[in-house]
Amino acid sequence: MANTHTSFRESVERMFTHAAGLMTLPPGLEEKIRVCNSTYTVRFGVRLRGQIQTFTGYRSVHSEHMEPVKGGIRYSLDVNQDEVEALAALMTYKCALVEVPFGGSKGGLRLDPREWNEDELERITRRFTYELSRRNLISPSQNVPAPDMGTGEREMAWMADAYKRLHPDDINAKACVTGKPRTAGGIDGRVEATGRGVQYALREFFRHDDMMKRAGLEGTLAGKRIIVQGLGNVGYHAALFLAREDKALITTVIERDGVISNPQGLDIEALRQHIVSTGGVKGFAGGDWRADGKAALEDECDVLIPAAMESVIHGENADRIRCKVIIEAANGPVTADADEVLKRKGVVIIPDMYANAGGVTVSYFEWVKNLSQISLGRLERRHEEARARMLVEELERLSADTGLNWTLSKGFKEAFLTGADELELVRSGLDDTMREAFGKMKEVWVGNSKVDDMRTAAYVVAIRRISNVYGSLGL
Ligand code: NAD
Repeated sequence: MANTHTSFRESVERMFTHAAGLMTLPPGLEEKIRVCNSTYTVRFGVRLRGQIQTFTGYRSVHSEHMEPVKGGIRYSLDVNQDEVEALAALMTYKCALVEVPFGGSKGGLRLDPREWNEDELERITRRFTYELSRRNLISPSQNVPAPDMGTGEREMAWMADAYKRLHPDDINAKACVTGKPRTAGGIDGRVEATGRGVQYALREFFRHDDMMKRAGLEGTLAGKRIIVQGLGNVGYHAALFLAREDKALITTVIERDGVISNPQGLDIEALRQHIVSTGGVKGFAGGDWRADGKAALEDECDVLIPAAMESVIHGENADRIRCKVIIEAANGPVTADADEVLKRKGVVIIPDMYANAGGVTVSYFEWVKNLSQISLGRLERRHEEARARMLVEELERLSADTGLNWTLSKGFKEAFLTGADELELVRSGLDDTMREAFGKMKEVWVGNSKVDDMRTAAYVVAIRRISNVYGSLGL
């Protein structure tokens, strides 16, 4: 499916260069920001199935202008140095855009996780962690991995445990990776975070009439037709929340084994169960199946959510894309060639570095939680409830004493008297982050006639912030 003309890395560099070209940066700084500082390649053996199996892994550090550096670990047969470096660069820009105090990094292991059982994957992951740890490429203060395609809570728990065994005296050891299960130091809301962020990003877009007009859209998310490619961690949560909470219609889901469609909207929860039990979308009773996933990307819809992999919309199919908005839940799903074609067609692209930043944002909250060794809201929650109770009781007393006999609306008292738990605080912090970053991108997009799309605006905001950090470092 990958485009043969522009690689993912070339696309990222072209987009960066386009934005940097609109800015006045100190001499040499553009190049300093662009280049990837280092990439470590490791080949290691694990004795499995009666023989030594050799695996190739990467950890790339794009920019250490802030530390620790941050970025997911991907398990896929397509992992290669170029891809990891492009993803690491995107992490640098993403962190700057959403103001999380990290540099950019990314890692990957070249393997198909479906070919190995749980025990085998655990042994491979622990060995990879050992290799990373020996080079300070996993550490709470220097380099903090997270889940990405093909990895999740389970792998992060193994990595955290392997790290802890190697560094038993490090009180912050848990903060060496994020995306861990709650029981192993994770935070509520991390699993859903990237999909939740996609939902918040779309909601924010729909709050701005002038932005919607650019895409030829009006109204609310309710009833809008959405196509999702990839119903994995990110695609599933985005689709579920948009359907359940915003009443959008997920009309098509594209997966590895084909496409499932229902113009009335698919039941996402049921479809996910079907995928978990059968391995694909084929045979799902709630929609019509067809084989050609590539063609389905070109179906008419309001919003297209590529949430699987990079370079799926490229120079050859861009002209046939018939949506109004693309929100890049995956990293790099639109190549630089396609970007230009879609811009000419008037398709608005909500760029990856913003759209999928929910993951790293909540990872940041998890890292802070691990370092502070206390869950979010634990100190304030009951105090907040007590103050709310005082107010409600005072209102009730006033009402009785004055004979006005006011009554509070149904459900108000319970809702008002409940202090925020960790999940609510995480969602609030994420929503705030997505709204703030959108505002900054919009300011640049509408305020500078040379900035011709939201992606360029996102790069300008990110590059400006990174440049400021370099400035204050005296470089
Ligand atoms: P995942 O492995 O959980 O899900 C990927 C899904 O895409 C799977 O359901 C898979 O079957 C499907 N898929 C794979 N190849 C496909 C194809 N050719 N056509 C259609 N579907 C295909 O991965 P994820 O964590 O959801 O990541 C998806 C994308 O989101 C990646 O680009 C990743 O870098 C990006 N991302 C993930 C996170 C995160 O927190 N997990 C954060 C930011 C960005």
